[in-house]
Amino acid sequence: MLFQPRLKSQNTTNMTLKERDKKHLWHPLTQHKVHPEALPIVKAKGALLYDEDGKEYIDGIASWYTAMYGHCNDYIISKVRVQMQQLDQIVFAGFTHEPAIKLSEELIKILPDNQEKIFFSDNGSTANEVGIKMALQYHFNNGEKRNTIIAFEDGFHGDTFGAMSASGLSVYNGPFEDFFIDVKRIPTPNSKNIEEVLKQLYSIIENNKVAAFIYEPLVQGANAMHMFEAQFLDQILKTCKENGIITIADEVMTGFGKTGRNFASDYVETKPDIISMSKALTAGFVPMAVTSCTQKIYEAFLDDSVGKAFFHAHTYSANPIACSAALAAIELLQNEETQQSIQRIISAHQDFNNTIKNHSKVKTTRQIGIIYALDLNIELDRYGKKRYEIFNHFINEGVFLRPLGNTIYIQAPYVITEKQLTKIYNVILDVLDTL
Ligand SMILES: *Cc1c(COP(=O)(O)O)cnc(C)c1O
Repeated sequence: MLFQPRLKSQNTTNMTLKERDKKHLWHPLTQHKVHPEALPIVKAKGALLYDEDGKEYIDGIASWYTAMYGHCNDYIISKVRVQMQQLDQIVFAGFTHEPAIKLSEELIKILPDNQEKIFFSDNGSTANEVGIKMALQYHFNNGEKRNTIIAFEDGFHGDTFGAMSASGLSVYNGPFEDFFIDVKRIPTPNSKNIEEVLKQLYSIIENNKVAAFIYEPLVQGANAMHMFEAQFLDQILKTCKENGIITIADEVMTGFGKTGRNFASDYVETKPDIISMSKALTAGFVPMAVTSCTQKIYEAFLDDSVGKAFFHAHTYSANPIACSAALAAIELLQNEETQQSIQRIISAHQDFNNTIKNHSKVKTTRQIGIIYALDLNIELDRYGKKRYEIFNHFINEGVFLRPLGNTIYIQAPYVITEKQLTKIYNVILDVLDTL
């Protein structure tokens, strides 16, 4: 016999998914010693997830902000099915195809006016990795050695090395910090600290050779949906531009309508040189990411010498099936129904906020577009016991929300019904009463 299965993998017939999961799987962001159980989900439709026993859960965070047009969206399925029968995969170095060409055209239509070129990769981290490498090589190709990146304190840009270096959540970066690229940090700006932030920025610029500034525009997702105002970000961006620093907007979370506009950068006067996006790009169907840039960035790589080209590739770059999912998603984003849903969710959140903002257990609340967050006035460890109790309470009640420390936030699919949204609000109110 050529193939002999290992005995310890056999006889799973009488085991539940939960039991089988534990045999060979290693989950992300999980301390398996303390949290051995994962919840098996067997299907999803619209804003709902279903487990093995048929119990349903409202997906209050659109499965990490991806499935914005609803899970297993029929329109996207129909487009992806056609593409799957036509062309599945082709090397994107030296070949091209219509789904990628069409997607570049559609993206350029909705991106800020200064964006001209589209570069493909696979996920949010690599989209930022590409952005950082583009910025470093931009200066290199122009004969300047600039090696420092500026980033916000407590930002999050992903888990690959460049993206991780730029991320500020150091508790989890401990084992790797010795290997990071050079990153200097500034606080996120507000009306009180903006002068101080600019002072720090000038000092970093004077004392380092700064290549790029990478930032999450207006909302820092992993930093518990921390929000800040466009006008202050604009002052930082202007200072960067005046000093030849390439600006990289990480729109991996904020992109495609979450903030009430197509991109968070639409609120900011100064447009970034580079934009990274992923998450909602393919509506939760398949992994894909895009890094867009201006003509100026692109032209710095044009030369008779091959060495000045951008030598970065991923095997699945511009996978045609992923492109077809993204094209269908962008079509859905722009239709009247979706735009009305976004407005409906925005005002529902505002009404909910009015009923909850003075609650004795609530410290502060904030909202931009369909992103709503509240801070409890108790301290909770990011992955502590109490946080899991709250998480489990939501799950028992059939709502999937993922508290970040003492922050509870909603980022539901645009297709969520009024009834489902009301249920999320009520379960949050329940939790407040049990605290
Ligand atoms: C999720 C996220 C990333 C990382 O994306 P992955 O696809 O998980 O690698 C980067 N930046 C922001 C703002 C994100 O929300």
